[in-house]
Amino acid sequence: MDGPSGSGKSSASRGVARALGLRYLDTGAMYRAMTWWMLQQGVDLADSEAIAARAGEPEITSGTDPDAPSIHVDGVDVAGPIREVEVTGAVSVVAAVPEVRSRLVALQRKIIGAGDIVVEGRDIASVVAPEATVKVYLTASAEARAQRRSAELAGSTVEAQQAAMARRDTLDSTRKTDPLSVAAGAIELDTTALNLEEVIAEVLSLVAERNGRDPSYERA
Ligand code: C5P
Repeated sequence: MDGPSGSGKSSASRGVARALGLRYLDTGAMYRAMTWWMLQQGVDLADSEAIAARAGEPEITSGTDPDAPSIHVDGVDVAGPIREVEVTGAVSVVAAVPEVRSRLVALQRKIIGAGDIVVEGRDIASVVAPEATVKVYLTASAEARAQRRSAELAGSTVEAQQAAMARRDTLDSTRKTDPLSVAAGAIELDTTALNLEEVIAEVLSLVAERNGRDPSYERA
């Protein structure tokens, strides 16, 4: 499941994983964890070579229970700190560094293993798991995405959210390595006018449709 921030990916991915009894992986949390560690270490984030040189150091572990996803860096629970503005403002810069991506993509592929998992991110269907059985690209209008994010974050206005998200989307879509894109074979789902239950139902029906069409797919 790929898409820009605020498209509803996290809630929808977790809901689909729960409904189908699958594992769940939030790859954005891994890029955030890497960014949190770089900030802690005082790495100069304006220097991509400095980021690249240290990208192999932090040990990042992700729990894949959709009811209680977890993220640790060198054994420290960073679920809270990775959502703070400092990390959110810096993550797209760190995520654009090829050495960061190759390290985290390898880690993601190891977790995905044989499958039975819902994975959310920006490059899952295009790069991390192009063999995925069902590929969904979630979108929503810029206003709807900003509104959802500011409802989640106390003290933030819709306008401020929209500006911050536009900046992050531009960085994510224009970077040289694995930019956010609609992968070949992905189904685009506009969630602007849908609530969470409707989005989950849509994705579940895509999975069911896919199962019906492809008898070799026996999971779920
Ligand atoms: O999904 P979330 O908003 O938490 O992702 C944070 C950032 O991590 C994104 O803005 C993007 O820069 C990066 N990211 C990425 N590739 C992914 C997932 C996230 O580059 N698969």
